[in-house]
Amino acid sequence: MAQFHPKVTPIYQTSVFTFEDLNELESYFEQPGNQYMYSRFGNPNTDELAAEVSKLEGGAGAVVTSSGMSAILVAVLTYCQAGDHVLCAEEIYGGSATLLSQELTRIGIAISFVPGEQLYTLSNHVQPNTKMVLAETISNPLLQVLDINRLAEETKQANIKLVIDNTFASPVITKPLALGADMVMHSVTKYLSGHSDVTAGVVVCQEQDLQRAKQVVMTFGVNLSPFESWLAARGLKTLKLRIRQHSQNALAIAQFLQQHPKVEQVWYPGLEQHEQHLLAKEQGNGLFGGMLSFRIQDKLETVNAFMQALQQMPFAPSLAGVSTSISHPLRTSHRSFTPERLDKLGITLGVIRLSVGIEEAEELIADLGQALEKI
Ligand SMILES: *Cc1c(COP(=O)(O)O)cnc(C)c1O
Repeated sequence: MAQFHPKVTPIYQTSVFTFEDLNELESYFEQPGNQYMYSRFGNPNTDELAAEVSKLEGGAGAVVTSSGMSAILVAVLTYCQAGDHVLCAEEIYGGSATLLSQELTRIGIAISFVPGEQLYTLSNHVQPNTKMVLAETISNPLLQVLDINRLAEETKQANIKLVIDNTFASPVITKPLALGADMVMHSVTKYLSGHSDVTAGVVVCQEQDLQRAKQVVMTFGVNLSPFESWLAARGLKTLKLRIRQHSQNALAIAQFLQQHPKVEQVWYPGLEQHEQHLLAKEQGNGLFGGMLSFRIQDKLETVNAFMQALQQMPFAPSLAGVSTSISHPLRTSHRSFTPERLDKLGITLGVIRLSVGIEEAEELIADLGQALEKI
C-alpha cells in the first residue's frame, strides 16, 4: 500500500496487526515499541495519548485505561497486593472510595480513610503494611488543595508511594511528579479530553513502575479503544487554552457569587478567603481551575427553582466539559454518605457545584444572576 503522510495520527481501528513471517514476529518481541501485535497490548492511538499526557506530567511514560476508575485500579495494583494497606484522603472521589473500600478489600487490600489535613502527620496513620497514599490535588466538591510537596516529604520518609489523582487540576495547573509524587492518575473523561464525549483514564509513571503498570492494563484488560484514545488525544491539544479560560471564567464567577446577597458561601481556591489560597497560588501556576462550589438556601424548593431558572447551565453530574454545567453533590456524588459525615464536610442541600466552561464569562454571570433573582 502507498505510504501517505497524514498530519494527524489516523485511527488504527484494528484489534490485531499482521506479520509477514516469523522473522517479523521475532522483531516484534526483540524490539518492543517498533511494531504492534494486538491492541490490548498496545495500539498507536493509545500510545500516542499515553506519550502526550506523560510529556505534560513530566513522567517516564504512561498507560491509558478504559476509565478513571480503572486508572485507580491500575495505580493500586501496580503497588499493592493482598495483605497490603492503602491510606486514602477522606475527601476522595466517591467512586475511588467505593473501589477501595468495597472491592479491593475483598481481594485482601486494606484501606483507611484520613481527613486530608491529617495526612501530613503521616506517622499517626501508617501501619507496617502501608504501601501507598492516594490523594487528590484539588478535592470535590469543596476544592480543598493538597500540599503535595509537604505530603511527599512525609511519604518518602515513611518509604510509602504517593499516588495523586490530578483530575481536577490537570498538569497545566499542577505537576505532582515534580513535587515529589510517585505516580499521577487522571480521569481523562474530564479536563484532559475536555469535551464530555470520552470515558478514559491514564496513569503516569516513573521509569521503575512503567512495566508493572503496563502488565496490569494488559492482563486485566482495562485498555482504552483506539477511537476513544484518538478523541482524547485530539482534546488534549487544546488543554492549555481551555484550562486558562476555565480558570479565568471561574475566578470571575466566584467573585460575582461572593458578593451576591442570595449566596451564603463560595468555595474557590482563587478567592483570598479560601483556606489554602496561598498554597493554591504557588502550586497552581497562578491558575485555580474551573471548578467551584457555592451555597444557596438549604431548601429543596429553592434549589429546584434555581436549577430550573438557569438557561444555559444544565444539571449534569459530571464535569470539565467546554460548556458549563452544574451538579448537586448531596444528591449525586455524595448520596451514600451518612448525615454525620456530610455535616462534618459541610455538604448541605443548598451546595451547588459549578463546572465552569469556556464560554464568555459575562454570559455565564448573567445567567447565574437572573437565576439567583428568581429564588
Ligand atoms: C470522574 C473522576 C474519577 C473517575 O473517573 P471515570 O472516568 O468516571 O471512571 C476519578 N477521580 C476523580 C477526581 C474524578 O472526578
